[in-house]
Amino acid sequence: MREHLKLFLCSTSAPDITCYKVLIDHLYHFEYYYAMLEIVTLGNDILRKKCATVAVFDDKLNDFLQAMIVTMREGNGIGLAGPQVGVEKRFFVCQVPDQEPFIFINPELIGTSEEVIPYEEGCLSIPGIYSDVVRPAWVKVQAWNVKGRPFTIEADGILARVIQHEMDHLKGVLFIDHVGEKKRTRLIRTYEKRLKK
Ligand SMILES: [Zn+2]
Repeated sequence: MREHLKLFLCSTSAPDITCYKVLIDHLYHFEYYYAMLEIVTLGNDILRKKCATVAVFDDKLNDFLQAMIVTMREGNGIGLAGPQVGVEKRFFVCQVPDQEPFIFINPELIGTSEEVIPYEEGCLSIPGIYSDVVRPAWVKVQAWNVKGRPFTIEADGILARVIQHEMDHLKGVLFIDHVGEKKRTRLIRTYEKRLKK
């Protein structure tokens, strides 16, 4: 079945997001043929590493990113970055409600709004912990798709939020780094208590 899926992927070259949606929906049907990736949690050094630029765009990369999408969905997350699944590479996937999944490779922030807003964030690598974080309300990002083609996206709302959160991961920054020290200590303590239960 895995081979069949591979054939499907190859025969339907997916040049854009719409085409991806078809692929992903199809993949979702076959989700158990993709190994679920293990999500790294707080305390693992890789979450603090600066990630390396992706230089090779091949089937292996595509397969891995598809597996990340499945893993993100299974974890009820809306974003997942390379280091969260043990890979120090500059890529992430995200999917916000009522939208297709997005894949960002080597993303660069090229614009942000002056307006900043608070929004409650959580992270698959720090399960059960949430906090308001203040960030720009709007962003413009340039990135590459799995085919190695550049694209630019402007986002606001929850998509702008998740993009900024995931781009932080690529620099070794976590959302709890954006809150005051006292609050951060409290959040980490709560997280550790939950772990012991
Ligand atoms: Zn996160």
